[in-house]
Amino acid sequence: MKRNYDRVYNFSAGPAVLPEEVLKQAAEEMMNYDNSGMSVMEMSHRSKTFDKIIKTAEQDLRDLLNIPDNYKVLFLQGGANLQFAMVPINLLKNGVADYIVTGHWAKRAYNEALKYGKINKVASSEDKNFSYIPDCSDLSISEDADYVYICENNTIYGTKFHTLPNTKGKILVSDMSSCFLSEPVDVTKYGLIYAGVQKNVGPAGVQIVIIREDLLRDDLPIWCPTMMSYKTHADKESLYNTPPAYGIYICGLVFKWLKKLGGLEKMKEINVKKANILYDFLDNSKMFRSTVEKDSRSLMNVPFVTDNDELNKKFIEEAAKEGFIQLKGHKTVGGMRASIYNAMPIEGVEGLVEFMKEFEAKNS
Ligand SMILES: *Cc1c(COP(=O)(O)O)cnc(C)c1O
Repeated sequence: MKRNYDRVYNFSAGPAVLPEEVLKQAAEEMMNYDNSGMSVMEMSHRSKTFDKIIKTAEQDLRDLLNIPDNYKVLFLQGGANLQFAMVPINLLKNGVADYIVTGHWAKRAYNEALKYGKINKVASSEDKNFSYIPDCSDLSISEDADYVYICENNTIYGTKFHTLPNTKGKILVSDMSSCFLSEPVDVTKYGLIYAGVQKNVGPAGVQIVIIREDLLRDDLPIWCPTMMSYKTHADKESLYNTPPAYGIYICGLVFKWLKKLGGLEKMKEINVKKANILYDFLDNSKMFRSTVEKDSRSLMNVPFVTDNDELNKKFIEEAAKEGFIQLKGHKTVGGMRASIYNAMPIEGVEGLVEFMKEFEAKNS
């Protein structure tokens, strides 16, 4: 199979593929945004023009996710990794929280939280290299837990919570970095949702936090940096200091793209279709197989392997020559991983499967 392309099919887990329409619009607007005579990159974050960009982005996000009025939307920095600390610092009151450890990022969040309180690991799937989501319908949730923490889509292991844990009335906190806006979400089920946008939404540098208003506090410990208090940013509508302005602008374009596409119901339909193309092939192939238990599979990140490391290596190299790039799996899983985020066109997944079929025929 030979294709002509000037852009590759980028299966990177993040930073990751963005919609071509969005990139083209950003290019068109680069030199002169909305008759301002400058790029959004050069613009004061206190200007009217930028104010419109950030307010519109927030409203479009609210529309997409049906975010109720009693939740604040924050555009922050510091990556998901900063949220690993901000969550416990801002939410611990009794000093107790329960964590469900389903992968590398959940584990990192758990380890960070240990610095700030009595943190319990109430469930884990580490026994089988995080290849599944544990049953969380009846966990021993701590009486005095301030919140229950999950990483909803495990980017490295390719698992996703398809049923939320039963938190027994405790506040649910979710790291949605790698599944944010991939499907509809009932925001009211959560106290706090956060997502680094470089996976499924925009460029690296923006962190979106959706937080229920009653969780914003004035009584944080004195040592909590001003920049790490959610209330600081909520009070100033994400303009306490210079925000990642260009990144927020691109996120705004992606929100418009999603709305135009038909919103998150439609996006989910497309994502299910794309993922099934790949999973159906993996489940029928004699050479390739999925590493994830069926009912835990992610729509966004699809790890897969052959039983031969040399063959994995050859596959990754040959795929790259055909324009299917960044297919190397994370070192803790090995093999391959195809991240098929919102912006990955269906042709990219179809092309990849076609290439896998040819590879299998040639090498078996
Ligand atoms: C990538 C990722 C992170 C880490 O994000 P940074 O922005 O690099 O800190 C955390 N959680 C999940 C689910 C991720 O996919």
